[in-house]
Amino acid sequence: MADKQGILIVLSGPSGSGKDTVLKRLIEKNDDIKVSISMTTRSMREGEIDGADYYFVTTDYFEKKIADGEMLEYAQYAGNYYGTPKAPVDEMLRAGINVVLEIEVQGAEKIRKIYPDAVSVFLMPPSIPVLEERLRLRGTEDDEALSHRLFIAEQEIRRAGEFNYIVVNDSIDRAVNDFETVIRAEKMRFSRNKNIISEVINNV
Ligand code: 5GP
Repeated sequence: MADKQGILIVLSGPSGSGKDTVLKRLIEKNDDIKVSISMTTRSMREGEIDGADYYFVTTDYFEKKIADGEMLEYAQYAGNYYGTPKAPVDEMLRAGINVVLEIEVQGAEKIRKIYPDAVSVFLMPPSIPVLEERLRLRGTEDDEALSHRLFIAEQEIRRAGEFNYIVVNDSIDRAVNDFETVIRAEKMRFSRNKNIISEVINNV
């Protein structure tokens, strides 16, 4: 077991806000941060890899995992289940690794209750038209699914006040930098460094 628990970081933000891109850059630059791989019942998009982007499973399998108590949190989003398998997250935290959960707002709410020490960050698009354009350019949803995602996006943005930090994604570089700043500051919280006083006093 590591001397220090890792930090649990929740990253939420509407579909199309750039969470994947920001996280990809973040973990490339920081090897003490890992992203938890979620489980979902949605179908795989072109280019996605099972076991890397998500664990793609059936509804029966997902419901069995819920019943067996193996999910840390889960939610329904746009008609599908999404959830965080519990064991790998606990293991990484115990090993001192900082873990990011890239999840929607209902999941974020559950995590805050289970882990009061978790840090929550909301990635905010600069505006709804920019968000819509990003989603259209991504081209992963048909018109109906896209408008449904935009509808959910607005509900999610209204809940941004539940998060500890807001990072506006008007430039990827700045958003990654801001996110890293949050994590750096969180590492310095006294509550995460309770041994520091005795370490300094006893190591004269
Ligand atoms: P997408 O279908 O675009 O990959 O994801 C849809 C939404 O589900 C995104 O807001 C994403 O953050 C969220 N999501 C992904 N994994 C999880 C999870 O494990 N739990 C929860 N609650 N939401 C998730």
